[in-house]
Amino acid sequence: MTAPNDIRRSEIKYVKGIGPSRGKLLQEELRISSVYDLLHHFPSHYVDRSRVYRVSSFSGDMPTVQVKGRFVNFTVQGEGAKSRLVGLFTDGSGTMEVVWFRRIKSIREAYLPGNEYMLFGKPQEFNGRWSMVHPEVDPSESAEEARGLRGVYPLTEKLRNSGVSSRTIFGWVKNTLARLSERDMPEILPPSIVSRFRLMSPFEAMSAIHNPSGNDTLQRARARLKFEELFFLQLNIQRYSRRRSASIRGFHFPRIGAFFNNFYSQMLPFELTEAQKRVLREIRNDVGTGRQMNRLLQGDVGSGKTIVALMAMLIAVDNGTQACLMAPTEILATQHYETIRSLVAPLGVNVRLLTGSTGKKEREVISSELQSGALHILIGTHAVIEDNVMFRNLGFVVIDEQHRFGVMQRARLWQKNSLAPHVLVMTATPIPRTLAMTVYGDLDVSVIDKLPPGRKPVTTLLRYDDQRMQVFREIGRQLKEGRQAYIVYPLIKENEKLDLKCLEEGYDLVKECFPSYEVAFVHGRMKPKEKDYQMRRFAENRAQIMVATTVIEVGVNVPNATTMVIENAERFGLSQLHQLRGRVGRGASQSFCVLMSKRKIAAETRRRLELMTATTNGFEIAEADLKMRGPGDMEGTMQSGMPFELHIANLATDGQLVQLARDCASEVLDADPELKSVENLVLAREMEQRFDRVFNLSRIS
Ligand code: ADP
Ligand code: MG
Repeated sequence: MTAPNDIRRSEIKYVKGIGPSRGKLLQEELRISSVYDLLHHFPSHYVDRSRVYRVSSFSGDMPTVQVKGRFVNFTVQGEGAKSRLVGLFTDGSGTMEVVWFRRIKSIREAYLPGNEYMLFGKPQEFNGRWSMVHPEVDPSESAEEARGLRGVYPLTEKLRNSGVSSRTIFGWVKNTLARLSERDMPEILPPSIVSRFRLMSPFEAMSAIHNPSGNDTLQRARARLKFEELFFLQLNIQRYSRRRSASIRGFHFPRIGAFFNNFYSQMLPFELTEAQKRVLREIRNDVGTGRQMNRLLQGDVGSGKTIVALMAMLIAVDNGTQACLMAPTEILATQHYETIRSLVAPLGVNVRLLTGSTGKKEREVISSELQSGALHILIGTHAVIEDNVMFRNLGFVVIDEQHRFGVMQRARLWQKNSLAPHVLVMTATPIPRTLAMTVYGDLDVSVIDKLPPGRKPVTTLLRYDDQRMQVFREIGRQLKEGRQAYIVYPLIKENEKLDLKCLEEGYDLVKECFPSYEVAFVHGRMKPKEKDYQMRRFAENRAQIMVATTVIEVGVNVPNATTMVIENAERFGLSQLHQLRGRVGRGASQSFCVLMSKRKIAAETRRRLELMTATTNGFEIAEADLKMRGPGDMEGTMQSGMPFELHIANLATDGQLVQLARDCASEVLDADPELKSVENLVLAREMEQRFDRVFNLSRIS
């Protein structure tokens, strides 16, 4: 008897039909490098193979469908690199064009006009005509035999160009599964869980997810695989946070002292909101326990996180330690510094600013004061985590707008001390519950859920490109009243050149339309010095209009700016739009946000923009964003928790399963924290396989 196959260690290039070069491509494009990875590349959806659509019934936004019919003729259109093969295709009910941009010659030879074919592709409408680009084509007899559901696999453009289709992937998977058996995929969940939820075996589920015999089987397979994925994720997060909260000692701050009290009674420029008071209580509790605090502070833009952070830092200073506030950009760090210094310097709190452009002299002062303990609060950018910045006694760290800082950077701060400082991570990106549960399982979460009183919600309008002059007239009225305005352009890496051109043209147009005002101009490609200079002109009202790319997204505070125009708003995600909108509405007067868009936009895009005009509630927007985009993007940008990747479960739509997996994981850990029991040995082994790398990374933070 041979040993079971170790599918995690079987390289993909040895699968029949793949080979070294495709293996490399699969690794690069989809991060598939082992047989295990291939099997975990699940179909994103399924198509009913017994259903054949008619061209005459195509409408709206069509999914991938099957059509049966004949090619009438083929023509090659266009020249050179732009040439394409167009086949006119009819199924009796109507005609459509089938288009190929690559492998024109071999395709032209393979398909014969007059023969009947089954096409499998996504119909697209252009100028009232339907077409399909690079569909799969089967002789209709062989397609007839296929029944049941057929998986559609996610692919990339590069893979498609190299001739890999959904069907190709299915072929590899099918061959692979035929060579494997139950023995190669042993159960990885304890028997009690398997029987409680009557879960399919891993092999059965794997076979069914790729080649389902029917809808019921498919649903059971999906349930098993989703549960398994979420369960291990929860187990990992919870085990980690339990270990840490049990083991990491932190500074003990028993006192509320003179700095805090004097600030509260003399310097606080307004009454704290209930939400701010609650969060301060949560922080005070944490730092009074002697365990290290790791707390995420969520609060919509303008909700007043800074003052909370400042008061927390004063507690640290009152207890004889130093505090540090880290911001993602120089502009933000400078703003924080100015605000905070003006509030606490009169009380004798020593605050300094350290950024990339801090001069040598000042650096020396900072360095010596940090070491003597004379410096109470250091505010800065990444510069504060450089190796040569040494604190005497760092007790409290605030990280603003956390998504710009990763796990590794958090970790570097810890290493500056023998005792881990308390950490408060502030974010204005509201995170829906299911996601927070997963991504920030290792952090405690505080929420400021109410804005300070007297804020008027920003009025948001959707306007089309042909209405720009009207919009500009409205801006003119605001400027006349002494207000300022932002005009924001998208800048996306992929078409950076084009975007920069738009931005520059926009800048010229704005200058032309507003000759009696000064216009500042900022984009990400500028040198930091120049960027800062431009920002400053706007902040000090020496420029009344700011034309910029999304570099202004985070944290900038110019209360006199009451209008924000977002060009090509259709190209931004919801959360990004919300962030941008947060730059206005910071003062007492009514503010406006105008979303500019093409008139012709997809239905989903329109829904997105209309939602923005309907609500200013960040959590509502974040929920909707998660539902519309899927959590993929968010996982990528929020690296502050544990890095993870989901193949099948969906945090947006599988909320109940997330909860179930979380409860099950905590039951298991309550009974057996180190996974040492016989029943849980499978779990311990699987955890090691899944989270080896990940766990090492998270341990240092
Ligand atoms: P964010 O949460 O976006 O960082 P800030 O801390 O910058 O928000 O606060 C936004 C503005 O609201 C600041 O000008 C701040 O002084 C003001 N602010 C904060 N808390 C209150 C409050 N309780 N009452 C009135 N104004 C407040
Ligand atoms: Mg802020």
